[in-house]
Amino acid sequence: MKPVIYIASSNAHKIAEFSQMFLNAGLDFEIRSCSEIPDWKSPPENGNTFCENAFIKAEALFQKVPPGAYVMADDSGISVDALGGAPGVMSARYAGENGPDADAKNNEKLLRELEGVPDHKRSARFICSIALITPEGERKNFEAKFEGQINRKAAGLRGFGYDPLFYLPERGMTSAELSAEEKNSISHRGKAFAMLAEFLKQKNNQH
Ligand code: IMP
Repeated sequence: MKPVIYIASSNAHKIAEFSQMFLNAGLDFEIRSCSEIPDWKSPPENGNTFCENAFIKAEALFQKVPPGAYVMADDSGISVDALGGAPGVMSARYAGENGPDADAKNNEKLLRELEGVPDHKRSARFICSIALITPEGERKNFEAKFEGQINRKAAGLRGFGYDPLFYLPERGMTSAELSAEEKNSISHRGKAFAMLAEFLKQKNNQH
């Protein structure tokens, strides 16, 4: 029987993205979303770090899943050096509460906050933290970074969130100009997932 893993996200886009990553990694898992748990309620993400927030979600879901299942949760965001690491864990709601135009408002606010900051001080990184709880209750964390700098204007139509402002000097483009495959191969989420995949392969002898 295939191992089962529940993902603590009700975002269909994220579930689809992770499902594709499992496939690409050659991991034969049955992927389930927390939305399949009848009385699931997402807990408040009030941790101080991405890792804390990922575990808040994973621990809450672990209480609800059937015995024998894995649970994973991820938390991510952007940390800008000139802003002392902000927006950090507040990335999704930097300019206010979550809403349909949150990405555009967050990007506008980031550009405003960085007005007058010279190029060499606009360094930033995306961070992704994945929390995994095994069926036996082992807790593991996989965290990775994606380095870049904040552009002075938006460019590119792919990706989401801060991608149009996230400039990659060595490629001469923003992460919103990369294909999904290119972005996954170098991104915080792609790299954190690769570490998770390695652990799951070892544990389940899937090579
Ligand atoms: P989440 O925790 O993965 O839902 O992400 C939190 C927020 O961080 C998102 O709403 C985005 O604003 C930002 N973020 C995380 N990863 C990325 C990325 O790969 N590109 C652009 N923005 C991102």
